[in-house]
Amino acid sequence: PLILGLESSCDDTAAAVLRGRDVLSSVVEGQNNLHASFGGVVPEIAARAHAERLDICIERALAQADVTLTQIDAIAVTSGPGLIGGVLSGVMMGKGLATGLGKPLIGVNHLAGHALTPRLTDGLAYPYLMLLVSGGHCQFLIVRGPEDFTRLGGTIDDAPGEAFDKTARLLGLPQPGGPSVEEQAKHGIERAYRLPRPLLDRPGCDMSFSGLKTALMRQRDGIITENGGLTRQNRADLCAEFQAAVRDVLAEKTRRAVALYLEEEPAEPAFAVAGGVAANMAIRAALQKICETAKVTFTAPPLRLCTDNAAMIAYAGSELLAKGITHDMTLSARPRWPLDRKASPLVGHGK
Ligand code: ATP
Ligand code: FE
Repeated sequence: PLILGLESSCDDTAAAVLRGRDVLSSVVEGQNNLHASFGGVVPEIAARAHAERLDICIERALAQADVTLTQIDAIAVTSGPGLIGGVLSGVMMGKGLATGLGKPLIGVNHLAGHALTPRLTDGLAYPYLMLLVSGGHCQFLIVRGPEDFTRLGGTIDDAPGEAFDKTARLLGLPQPGGPSVEEQAKHGIERAYRLPRPLLDRPGCDMSFSGLKTALMRQRDGIITENGGLTRQNRADLCAEFQAAVRDVLAEKTRRAVALYLEEEPAEPAFAVAGGVAANMAIRAALQKICETAKVTFTAPPLRLCTDNAAMIAYAGSELLAKGITHDMTLSARPRWPLDRKASPLVGHGK
């Protein structure tokens, strides 16, 4: 079937058209310029921008896919979690389109969209292990079905992408921090300065990254006090050690998560990493090595499908539709919606 996907849960307005696993179009309109001067996403501005731009995104997605609205077989829309004003804009649009066209409506969990992306891009078989690691998230999931996820652990404070961004800020490097820290790290020496590897002494798959930036700040201030400033080499060395610390934590926790996953004896064992931090080559190489040792297939979807987009929503919607799951006009927008708590996105649930 031909599925139209809509995404508006954070600061990207997106629409996409999918036929099976074929992404016919994927339009993403960012809002960075609208929020830049506020130092963060302003929910009210985001909601307004989504409401204004959704129809344009939909038109462009249809045009690029070379289909008309009447050819669409179903509408999939992010119905949570996220900023409620934005989610509402999308859900309203989805309801309007589904009613007008007389076609099914499917409410999709945004995180499920991210988690199912390796099936869209690489056709992974269930169950597979997923590490979602971005600016806002860091968690291990065993993905068993479009509504069936087991969370093995995750960060108890900051996400690694956020830590990369803060590190860049502390060292006067440009944003987003990930790519600039990675670039500096290439010229630096690991262990020239020592940073902790948090929570490695604790069993399980939980992680912590907020202490890293505090430790980095202390190292930085120590160097400044001693030498009156940071040299280019100091900066590179701090970046190298910071990246190594994140890499070591992610690698060790991935090793543990893989072991837990393999206890289930999956027929085609596979691991997927997704999210902006998966773009980091040092981290990616470390995760790949863990998988090779454990004889688990390693996959990393292309970045444009890892960051927020509507193709992943359309795809997750298509899997739900295939299971006969659709929603009616009581579909509600949910600001909070943990992946591992099973509940259909219908009326009447609180948090
Ligand atoms: P979420 O979607 O989880 O709410 P987000 O929109 O910030 O969060 P993404 O767009 O997936 O997430 O990722 C952006 C993050 O990825 C930023 O924090 C950025 O610094 C980080 N990042 C990007 N490239 C790299 C890299 N090469 N190394 C490390 N981190 C990176
Ligand atoms: Fe996202």
